[in-house]
Amino acid sequence: MSSTEHDEVHRTSGRENILEVRDLVVTYGGAVQALRGVSLSVAEGAVVALLGSNGAGKTTLLRALSGTLSLHRGRAESGEVRYRGKSLKGVDPAHCVATGLVQVPEGRRIFTRLTVEENLKAGGLGVRGHGDKAADYERIYTMFPVLAERKSQRAGLLSGGEQQMLAIGRGLMAHPQLLLLDEPSLGLAPRIIGQIGEVIGEINRQGTSVLLVEQNATMALGVADHAFVLDVGKVSLSGTAAELSQSDAVQRLYLGHGADEAPKRETAAVRSTRKLTRWVQ
Ligand code: ATP
Repeated sequence: MSSTEHDEVHRTSGRENILEVRDLVVTYGGAVQALRGVSLSVAEGAVVALLGSNGAGKTTLLRALSGTLSLHRGRAESGEVRYRGKSLKGVDPAHCVATGLVQVPEGRRIFTRLTVEENLKAGGLGVRGHGDKAADYERIYTMFPVLAERKSQRAGLLSGGEQQMLAIGRGLMAHPQLLLLDEPSLGLAPRIIGQIGEVIGEINRQGTSVLLVEQNATMALGVADHAFVLDVGKVSLSGTAAELSQSDAVQRLYLGHGADEAPKRETAAVRSTRKLTRWVQ
């Protein structure tokens, strides 16, 4: 997407952008070019989906946002990332979390030997200015009752879906303003993926903007307001989730069916009136 098109996204969103990425180029070890000039934005209060196949650069983009590129020998060569209007250049991961930019990494990465509650506690470490930890646990246990039932159990005993919920809950302990979710549906059964989509909608309704990286386009477009498709390090398509659901390329590549079988997606109005199905697996 050119800078002009990026400006168009900015203007048409009608809201301030909490995140703006412009012409971002990232390499690993100075050789592999993983992002080749990516521009995208996330409007305040929105859920934005980032779709793309293996190796497209989705995780690399999240690393660039959460200050973790250098941990993987990655480097932003050029371009700009702005969060709440401020450049993220040289900002370390702890500072990102402290300012509300929180990543839930691919593959859960929970502490399997610690209990559920200890994992949640770890998510709140180093987060200042949000005094009432009891209220934080309560919020997460209300959203995920199964975590309340299992709070004293070792996290390694949870099912894959429950571990994903714990990873999301741990991220919520840091009071994100922009939550970066890296493939939360990975390896999970369709029913559980549906519940994850509902949870993302609920988190958003409670006031958190979300950038959702997904290969599961059905779930992602079902919950997102806007979406971008990343293709070998470049944005190849962008639009509202409804527009992309109807796009032939998205249907063929990511939704796995013909143009006359568009996925059923809810409008934002329908979503806002729906209650979250409790996580009671
Ligand atoms: P996946 O869904 O498979 O994780 P992705 O869209 O998240 O894919 P990335 O993991 O960002 O893609 O990878 C983008 C490119 O960068 C790929 O060519 C990948 O091989 C390369 N890459 C990713 N991490 C590293 C690294 N630490 N060192 C070298 N190359 C890397």
